[in-house]
Amino acid sequence: MSISSILFVLVLLAAVGLFTKNILRLKRNIDLGLPEERNDRKGERWATMARVALGQGKMVVRPIPGILHVLVYAGFVIINIEVLEIVIDGVFGTHRVFRFLGNFYDFLIAGFEVLALLVLVSCVVFLVRREIIRLKRFWGREMEGWPRSDATMILVMEILLMGAFLKMNATDQVLAQRGVEHYVLAGTYPVSTWLRPFFTGFSDGTLILLERGYWWFHIVGILAFLNYLPYSKHLHILLAFPNTWYSKLEPKTRIANMIRVEGEVKSMMDPSIPPPDPAPRTVAGVEMQERFGAKDIFDLSWKSLMDAYSCTECGRCTSECPANLTGKLLSPRKIMMDTRDRVEEVGKVIDAKGKWEDDGNSLHSRITDEELWACTTCNACTQACPVNIDPVHIIVEMRRYLVMEESRTRPALTSMFNNVENNGAPWAFGPDKRMDWVEG
Ligand code: SF4
Ligand code: SF4
Repeated sequence: MSISSILFVLVLLAAVGLFTKNILRLKRNIDLGLPEERNDRKGERWATMARVALGQGKMVVRPIPGILHVLVYAGFVIINIEVLEIVIDGVFGTHRVFRFLGNFYDFLIAGFEVLALLVLVSCVVFLVRREIIRLKRFWGREMEGWPRSDATMILVMEILLMGAFLKMNATDQVLAQRGVEHYVLAGTYPVSTWLRPFFTGFSDGTLILLERGYWWFHIVGILAFLNYLPYSKHLHILLAFPNTWYSKLEPKTRIANMIRVEGEVKSMMDPSIPPPDPAPRTVAGVEMQERFGAKDIFDLSWKSLMDAYSCTECGRCTSECPANLTGKLLSPRKIMMDTRDRVEEVGKVIDAKGKWEDDGNSLHSRITDEELWACTTCNACTQACPVNIDPVHIIVEMRRYLVMEESRTRPALTSMFNNVENNGAPWAFGPDKRMDWVEG
C-alpha cells in the first residue's frame, strides 16, 4: 500500500468516525424530548417523504429559488456517486476504476460535469440573492452573525468543491492525452474540456501536482463538509428525510389535548376512570418534573427537537407569518433556531458533566412572552415550510406553560380565562343567561 493510500485511509476513517460520533450526539439530544408515537399510517408517511423531501414539492412553490435548489440538491447527491470511485481509487491506488463501464461511464462523467456546472451557477445566484440583492428574509434579526456566515460559507464551499471537481477532470485529461503513466483516456468531459487550454502550458510534473491537489481538495472538502453538517443549518440535507417521514398527518390546525388534563377531566366526569398517574421520566440521569406545557426542551416532543435540527433557516415561514408581516416581534424561524440553540446548550452541559444539571436557563430565556403571544396559530408557517416543520406546536406548548404554571397571560386574555372558569364560556354571562337574547 502506498503512502498516499495509507494517508487516504486514515483521513477517511477519521472523517467517518467523527461524523458517526456527531450523529450519535444529535440523536442523544433529540431523545431528550418527550416520547411521542409517530409510526402510524406508514404508507402516507412514505408518500409525504417522497413528495416533500425527495421531490422537493414545497420548494418549487417559489419557482426560481425552488428550481435552483432542486438543481443544487440533485447535483450534489448525484455527483457524490463519484465519491465512491474516488474512495476506491484512494484506498487501492487505482485511477478511474469504473472506466470498465465503457459508454455508461462516459455518460455518467458527462452528466456529473453538467450537474457540477449547474450547481456552481445556482450557488452563485444564491450568493447574489443573499449578499448583493439582500432579500429581506435572509436579513432578519435572528440571521445576524453566525447564521448568515454559515449560509455564505456553505455556498462558497460548494462553489469551491464543484470548481475543484471540474479542474481535476481538466488536468486529468491533459495528462491522459500526453500519455503520462497512471492517467487513462476515459469518460466524456463536456464542461472541463473548456478548461483544458488553461493547463496545457504546464509541465507534466506541475500538472500531476495540480491534479492531485484538486483530487485531494475535492475529497477532503467533501469529508470536511460531512463533518460540518452537524454544526450547520445544512444538516437539513440529511434530516429532511426523517423529518418529513414523521410529519404531523392530522390537519395542521388541530391542537392536541394535554393528555394529563384530558385524563383528569375524564376521571372527573366518570369516577370509574382512574385519574392519570404518569410514570416518572428520567432523562440524562435526572428525574424530570412533570409539567403542563413546555418550560424547557425536555417538555417538548422529540419531534419538535428534530424539527429544530432540520430547520434550513430559509425564512419562508417568517415571510408568510401575519404577525411578523404586521411588525410583531414573532418570527417562527427564530422559534426554531432558539429551540435548536437551547438543545445544543443543554447537550453541552450533559457532555461536560456526564448528566443534566440545571443551568438556570430554559427555552423561555431565549423566547419572550411577547413573541409567544403574537402567534395567531394560523399555521401559515407550517404550510410554507419546505421540510414540514411545525413551529406552532412549540409556541402552543410554551404558552400552555405560561398560563398553567406561571399564570402569565396577556391582560386581554385574563377576563376571558376568568369567564371560562366561572361561566364555562368566554363571555361574561352565566349559563342561565344564555337564552336571554332569544327573549330580547
Ligand atoms: S401560526 Fe403563528 S408563527 Fe405561524 S405563521 Fe401564524 S402567526 Fe406566524
Ligand atoms: S421552519 Fe421551515 S420555513 Fe421556517 S426557516 Fe426553518 S426550514 Fe425554513
